[in-house]
Amino acid sequence: MPLLRSWVDSANRADCDFPLNNLPCGVFSVEGEEPRCGIAIGDFVLDVAGLEEAGLLALDGGPLLDVPFWNEAMEAGPAVWAALRARLQDLLAEGAAEREAVEPFLVPRAAATLHMPFLVAEYTDFYAGRNHAFNVGSMFRGPENALPPNWLHIPIGYNGRASSVVVSGTPVRRPWGQVKGPDQPMPAFQPSRRFDLELEMGAVVGRASEGMVSVAEADEMIFGYVLLNDWSARDIQAWEYQPLGPFQAKATATTISPWIVMRAALEPFRVSTPPREVPLLPHLQEPGPMLYDIALEVGLTPEGGAETVIARTNYREMYYSAAQQLAHHTTSGCPMNVGDLLGSGTISGPTKESRGSLLELSWGGKEPIAIEGGTRSFLEDGDTLTLRGHAQGEGYRIGFGNCSGRVIPAHENPLGAGR
Ligand code: MN
Repeated sequence: MPLLRSWVDSANRADCDFPLNNLPCGVFSVEGEEPRCGIAIGDFVLDVAGLEEAGLLALDGGPLLDVPFWNEAMEAGPAVWAALRARLQDLLAEGAAEREAVEPFLVPRAAATLHMPFLVAEYTDFYAGRNHAFNVGSMFRGPENALPPNWLHIPIGYNGRASSVVVSGTPVRRPWGQVKGPDQPMPAFQPSRRFDLELEMGAVVGRASEGMVSVAEADEMIFGYVLLNDWSARDIQAWEYQPLGPFQAKATATTISPWIVMRAALEPFRVSTPPREVPLLPHLQEPGPMLYDIALEVGLTPEGGAETVIARTNYREMYYSAAQQLAHHTTSGCPMNVGDLLGSGTISGPTKESRGSLLELSWGGKEPIAIEGGTRSFLEDGDTLTLRGHAQGEGYRIGFGNCSGRVIPAHENPLGAGR
């Protein structure tokens, strides 16, 4: 598919994240006003809540955008999602008859503050990247036992916390927790010294389910995708994780990018998961390509310093797709809801430069990596992490907007001396 040209000139630049082909969904505010639904186009946010109010959208079952989140529009279903995209592409296309009516609803993106784009119902995080699972398993259990015996048969996951999912730009405080090194007789309660990132994609569920769904049905339930940083305290994780998986190590915060890129915008970039090493049972087999070719990178900027890109990888490295994860999630009969968020699992490629966490990049802290003006094994206070991603089309790209967060120092012992 070629670039769809818009009368919004900045949307036609080859390096613009938000061409007419994209139209991602966010929530924005301008000074002195309440947050509202918007769509990114070029250097602007289009106030779609205003457009709907002015009668320019006429969505079935509307109004759907008179709330500061996208859940109601998601709940309206795929026919409405498609109708919204088609209508906006008409209104914003080069030569559109209604340009004059639409133009007053454009807000310069630089003047907009971005908020959480949807209400997160529940958050589940997976462990579905082959390279990441092998690297981490090698460090924790040795290369022979790196992959757990179930890993090639089901996408392993755990139920995370929706309450700590935050939008890009929200500072993230270094957590306290209980840690214990192998040589220490007793655990200690202290701020994490191995605070880390995980580069992931998040899938946003736009349709509820009752009972089991197929992989094909699961794919249709996904409204769109965001970038996701699953902040992780490795020292807390190492002590707490067996036998029920991560708990407090992952509960501090999960940062997402501010725009939900609709699945429809990513259709031209579908790719297959890698070849199966052992055949999957039929209920998890994919009927077609269900991953996406999305180039990803992570920048690390120390306080007052310059950014170093510490990792470059691609979403297509995943062993399981979000559709497979979602289908697996329903096998027990577990109902899925509008606004559920699924983390892909850390996306690491096969090379050292393509590892999606500092745990892997510094190999457990044994091989600190070089950054502008220093080295890093794990995150230091004042570090800002920025995840970026885009799918590359011919003469255009589908971008996600930055997913960034700055690490701020741990509280002084919040429970007081002696606790
Ligand atoms: Mn994770």
